[in-house]
Amino acid sequence: MESYDIVVVGARCAGASTALLLARQGRRVLLVDKASFPSDTMSTLYIHPPGVARLARWGVLDDVVASGCPPLDTISHDVDGLRLAAAVTPVDGATAAYAPRRHVLDGLLVRAAVAAGAEFRDGTRAEELVWRDGRVTGVRLRTGDSVRTVSAGLVIGADGMRSKVAELADAPVVRSAPLATCVYYTFWSGLRTGFGFHESVGRWIARIPTHDDLTVVAAYLPQDEFQAARRDPAEAYLSAVKSTAPDLYEQLMAGERADRWRGTGDQRNYFRQAHGPGWALAGDAAHHLDSITARGITNALIQAELLAGSLAGVDVADTAAVDEATARFGRDMAAALAEPYASTLELAKLRPTKARLRMLRAVAASPELTSRYFALSSGAIRMREFMTADVVDLL
Ligand SMILES: Cc1cc2nc3c(=O)[nH]c(=O)nc-3n(C[C@H](O)[C@H](O)[C@H](O)COP(=O)(O)OP(=O)(O)OC[C@H]3O[C@@H](n4cnc5c(N)ncnc54)[C@H](O)[C@@H]3O)c2cc1C
Repeated sequence: MESYDIVVVGARCAGASTALLLARQGRRVLLVDKASFPSDTMSTLYIHPPGVARLARWGVLDDVVASGCPPLDTISHDVDGLRLAAAVTPVDGATAAYAPRRHVLDGLLVRAAVAAGAEFRDGTRAEELVWRDGRVTGVRLRTGDSVRTVSAGLVIGADGMRSKVAELADAPVVRSAPLATCVYYTFWSGLRTGFGFHESVGRWIARIPTHDDLTVVAAYLPQDEFQAARRDPAEAYLSAVKSTAPDLYEQLMAGERADRWRGTGDQRNYFRQAHGPGWALAGDAAHHLDSITARGITNALIQAELLAGSLAGVDVADTAAVDEATARFGRDMAAALAEPYASTLELAKLRPTKARLRMLRAVAASPELTSRYFALSSGAIRMREFMTADVVDLL
């Protein structure tokens, strides 16, 4: 039987980053994905500055920039006749956000993991966990017709919202909220918009420049409109853009749609228990939230760093130490991501409240506060850093 220190199942932003950091600790890491790489996955691609700062720390940002991905160094938010606009607040020297195509980002992360010594196999599906005395000790993998069992001190499921590892480990959902929005998006050429969003009651429109002079434009609608939207995505999408962002709509009509309609009504909101004897979860497998705040990739990078950090210096043969480290990761991850989860659930109601509009008006009157507001929504600062005494007075 082949043997590794750690097997990581799922090789996109969560799995490849985790494998990269663990391989740099000198561990024998096997990284597998059932998909063929490089390939795309459903996403509007935006990485907030805290995520970009991690890519920079790991030496991957230069490759993202070299791929021709444009820096997104400004941000705007139009709501109720109000426009908030600011430069992106730098985080640890990262002065812009980026929205790389996923075949580029995930491919670069896998390449970096392999350069750090991880072994990568795509087209390889995790089918079963191997258990001994209530502990995961390996995983059964299928590549085409060939099935093999590998043993490992830790199996990490970074295999997305419908995680097979979570299912096999029986990882309970410990916190959840109902589905809130549905979303349709596509890519457009010929737009000159920059990064930003437009909000109205029941609608959230995002515009996100990416590679090749293309812009992703996404339309978020309430979950209860999903059945109608999926019958006619073009109508649902275009009428949402037209009513909420008329200037952007004019640009779409003058531009060209460069891809098919893509959309989903299945954006769950949950935290799973992210650790157990011999196993751990990272990325969407551990925690998923509505994509309206574009947090998933940044959260995955944060989790990779927390999980690898908790395992630093731990001998994978020491089962008690491994379980202690993954339990610490579970606690730290839940604490780090609780605030963006709550604010995402609030935005995903698609109901700008009077109190929030009042707050945004006060914020818009001050360039400094506007910058801090965007820093808060990107995760660069916490609510307690935003809500200083002067802000409380003002609001
Ligand atoms: C419409 C939409 C828009 C979004 N927009 C944004 C955005 O703008 N910004 C942002 O930050 N986030 C966004 N997200 C969320 C983001 O895409 C996810 O949070 C992110 O991809 C999670 O990464 P991950 O590595 O955890 O999982 P995934 O990207 O889901 O990757 C999981 C991988 O696991 C593999 N896998 C699954 N099962 C197995 C198995 N049994 N064996 C082997 N491999 C397996 C899959 O093939 C897949 O490659 C969006 C999501 C949606 C749906």
